[in-house]
Amino acid sequence: MYFYILTLFPEMVMQGLDTSILGRAAKRGHIVIETVNIRDHTLDKHGKVDDYTYGGGAGMLMQAQPVYDAYTAVLHQIAARRQMTESEAAQETRVVYVTPQGRTFRQDMAQEFAGEEDLILLCGHYEGIDERVLEEIVTDYVSIGDYVLTGGELPAMVLVDAIARLVPGVLHNADSTVTETFHDGLLEYPQYSRPEVWHGRRVPEILLSGDHAKVDAWRHEQSVERTKRLRPDLYETYLADRERAQR
Ligand code: SAM
Repeated sequence: MYFYILTLFPEMVMQGLDTSILGRAAKRGHIVIETVNIRDHTLDKHGKVDDYTYGGGAGMLMQAQPVYDAYTAVLHQIAARRQMTESEAAQETRVVYVTPQGRTFRQDMAQEFAGEEDLILLCGHYEGIDERVLEEIVTDYVSIGDYVLTGGELPAMVLVDAIARLVPGVLHNADSTVTETFHDGLLEYPQYSRPEVWHGRRVPEILLSGDHAKVDAWRHEQSVERTKRLRPDLYETYLADRERAQR
């Protein structure tokens, strides 16, 4: 899967995404993460990418032209690789603008995006981006939560991390995404590693029993109990889904 991140701060994004599991996955070719510096595409001779907002108000706004040209540079690459026209590439490629005004990012969205061959992520800065270019290129508006950050770089990194780990081959053990939190609408059960006793606390006896069926049943019970206690909202949805499935 190819991720293209349109940003004014490419180093910030790559420092976060070029290490550990994602860095190794990129080296092995399971994912490609490319940043495009929006400033490289400005036609302003002083390298300016922002200006005052019409109608007044605090702060500067990213202008449409450099964002649009950065986007078309990516489309050009996608079209060449996939041997299609740029307008076909535009039709095929989702462009996510990370914004506090978007739909809140969730695991099911990560799963959906992981099915794409290419994904373009657009990071705003300052007061955001001129609405006209958003209307022209953006397919999805995604927020990482109800708070306002200074820029879209951290949100873009969050999205890439959550999506990339669902791309086949990125995690060594694909099972880990199947048992983990949110996969089936429940939080993951508690887990333990060596030693058996730490600070006087024992690992639950059942996990040492070697009885896989009992372990699975215990883990499911723990998942349900924990979801009910920590995330009553998820628990309600889980119960409703289960009831629907049993009808
Ligand atoms: N003026 C904008 C508004 O009120 O909606 C906020 C702009 S914010 C200071 C600058 C940039 O940070 C945004 O363009 C967006 O890309 C990013 N951003 C800030 N908070 C975010 C969030 N919760 N989720 C996703 N992106 C966010």
